[in-house]
Amino acid sequence: GLSRDELKQLVRTVPDFPSSGIQFRDITTLLAHGEGLSASVDMLAGMAADLGATKVAGIEARGFIFGTALALRLGVGFVPIRKAGKLPVECIGEDYALEYGEARVELDPSIIGSDDKVLVVDDLLATGGTALAAVRLLRRAGAEVSHALFVIDLPELGGAGALAEEGITTHALID
Ligand code: 5GP
Repeated sequence: GLSRDELKQLVRTVPDFPSSGIQFRDITTLLAHGEGLSASVDMLAGMAADLGATKVAGIEARGFIFGTALALRLGVGFVPIRKAGKLPVECIGEDYALEYGEARVELDPSIIGSDDKVLVVDDLLATGGTALAAVRLLRRAGAEVSHALFVIDLPELGGAGALAEEGITTHALID
């Protein structure tokens, strides 16, 4: 398998996306690389091995890719945390702040049981706002949530600290 350093080199940096001055870390190039994709999922599965998860929740849209792969590796079910307005059934929602404006994620709480221990998965952790909204939704639905896994952490944005304040341990493959 590839090393973490080799994985890092498969992430493409796109300057000035989505707005001027932002360096977007684009995982498309990592996903398209067979060894890179499988090494990423192997490492996520290694980090999750002893966490006792009963479900994996992935955040739309890039969290669906890694989250589903991880759920398959762990032999547990997958729960989609969706952007607003996509679910066909009655759902619960959490609003959260973005750098510019607001966003909302939603969950069908009927797919969560009170005995579920859920891992949150996304491609990238920045401020932690998105992951925290997902954690709140899952807890409102009755799940125990204490770990979140990411392919990339941008440590200077403080997401791991924000998650720790809510009792969540952060795991990431690449800084
Ligand atoms: P946060 O809520 O932690 O500030 O931002 C993380 C969310 O925004 C994640 O859902 C992630 O997919 C997305 N995001 C923010 N910046 C980037 C980036 O540079 N690259 C990628 N791939 N996603 C990003």
